[in-house]
Amino acid sequence: MATEEELSSSSLGLNLEGIDDVEDFVWENQGESASMSLGRFSHLYDLMEMGNKAFRENRFEEAVNCYSRAHNIQPTDPVILNNRCAAYLRISQFLKNRSPSTSEHKPLSGLDPTIHAGLALKDADHLMNVRRQSVTPYILKTNALILLEKFELARDAIISGLQIDPSSNALRNLENIIGRRIHGRPARTDDFDCTLCLKLLYEPITTPCGHTFCRSCIFQSMDRGNRCPLCRTVLFISPRTCAISVTLNSIIERNFPQEYAERKLEHESLTNMGPDLLPLFVMDVVLPCQKLHLNIFEARYRLMVRRIMEGNRRMGMVILDPTTGSVADYACEVEITDCEPLPDGRFFLEVESRRRFHIIRNWDQDGYRVAEVEWVQDLSPGEGTREKYDLQQTTINVAAYARSWIRVAQEAARRDQARLTELHTAEGLMPSPSDPESFSFWLATLTNQRPQERLALLRLRDTKELMKHYWFVEVKKRLIQHSFSLVI
Ligand SMILES: [Zn+2]
Ligand SMILES: [Zn+2]
Repeated sequence: MATEEELSSSSLGLNLEGIDDVEDFVWENQGESASMSLGRFSHLYDLMEMGNKAFRENRFEEAVNCYSRAHNIQPTDPVILNNRCAAYLRISQFLKNRSPSTSEHKPLSGLDPTIHAGLALKDADHLMNVRRQSVTPYILKTNALILLEKFELARDAIISGLQIDPSSNALRNLENIIGRRIHGRPARTDDFDCTLCLKLLYEPITTPCGHTFCRSCIFQSMDRGNRCPLCRTVLFISPRTCAISVTLNSIIERNFPQEYAERKLEHESLTNMGPDLLPLFVMDVVLPCQKLHLNIFEARYRLMVRRIMEGNRRMGMVILDPTTGSVADYACEVEITDCEPLPDGRFFLEVESRRRFHIIRNWDQDGYRVAEVEWVQDLSPGEGTREKYDLQQTTINVAAYARSWIRVAQEAARRDQARLTELHTAEGLMPSPSDPESFSFWLATLTNQRPQERLALLRLRDTKELMKHYWFVEVKKRLIQHSFSLVI
């Protein structure tokens, strides 16, 4: 049998209205039963007192017992009918709200929510004949019909009740409860699961062969071949042209809102990883202020790029350190500025490098690397100091030199279209001299550095060092040596 704590916690889950308490049985009722002896009435009164006490202490079965005995004495009394009906409803509600695991653990043999709701419905109907001008029987009846999942009939009961008391809050609240259920929720069967991830479908796509998968799941599967994973039909679909099944998606969202929200969160954690987490493209060292083109063909990176494109379009570009065999400790964030998906699933990307980071730790996720990073900046001299002023002046001078150099180089490359494009790209990426750190990196991109040299630059934290004593001289020297050969 249900324990007290179990019964008292039963109001969680399926909500009902207007059955929190019962009515007190008053001496005045004696007037309606003038034929009854005082002793018999006193007994009836005691039964009702006991029943109400039990109800208020959440011992509903005991309450029903008392009310039933009282009912045998006075079958048409509205208070007895009202209170017993409320107790039946509370038992039914409790049984309905028991989780399957609790039920398996502690079976309540003989107790059935439907039987109790049915008994409540009988009492409510009976009460309706006794108390014709009261809204209470309608509230009780609606509760019973909700527990019986007869939502259309429950709505009719609400409409009838509102004709008696249009301002009944309990009926309005019940109307809201029904509003959410009126069309009947489909049962949560595995029909709504994706056969690839075995979870609730998220952004479902139905293939031409009629099978439905999560959008991310089907394209992840197609990274390894262009056939339907279920029936092996060759599929000619691509993430760009394939639309999500909007109707199915909204059915799922409406009917399983909590599970849908969890799936959404899960999906978003993969596409928008958070400020200090970055997926890594392991290939080369890039410096900030570079632009480059990438051809993404490996299945794992195709998956990674699809996720990135749904999020902030940023990833880290890193090199494998040949000395350790694992990813280098410093790398650069790149932003995808252009993404061209090809029909065969590959991507052509144009990326621009943004800022440096230090890798704190990295791990594998679905075949590609993800890193927790800390952003690295130069140790900047304090505002208003002489060093700050000198650095600013140096940058302005270097910028003027660089601009004139680019003009000369463009003049020299008049007939070389490829070179001109390179120069234009470099010119377009030139940062403002008010940002010496970015400027120093841009300057460094003008010369052809070996990967290890670029890695050493990423580790440097002194802009002045980089700009004034090394790069300014070095760039000039190399550019002259290579007779303006420019590598971007
Ligand atoms: Zn899936
Ligand atoms: Zn198929």
